[in-house]
Amino acid sequence: MEKKDVNELPSQFIYKVPRTHKIFQNRSIKFGVFGKQGIEITDVCPIPNNEIICDWCNTPITDEKINLVVHLDKFSSKTLVDQALCERCKKKKYSELIVIGE
Ligand SMILES: [Zn+2]
Repeated sequence: MEKKDVNELPSQFIYKVPRTHKIFQNRSIKFGVFGKQGIEITDVCPIPNNEIICDWCNTPITDEKINLVVHLDKFSSKTLVDQALCERCKKKKYSELIVIGE
């Protein structure tokens, strides 16, 4: 993300990134069981880098730029991305958020 003053940003916004962004690289779904040492991973299913699904409607996203919903903690300046959205769900669920990176 380009450098911006944290105070200029709202606590939640949409950040558009290319579908080749590192957040979509080398992902996997891990399966596990609770063991004596905590969660023990029993299987790992890789997710193809180009397979991006909307977290609201589960539709495959084929756009070149992907909408990420970003939460900003202004005290620590840390960000948390909790969903990728298709254009339709972005407009339906988060039309009030500003969009950065278009
Ligand atoms: Zn969607």
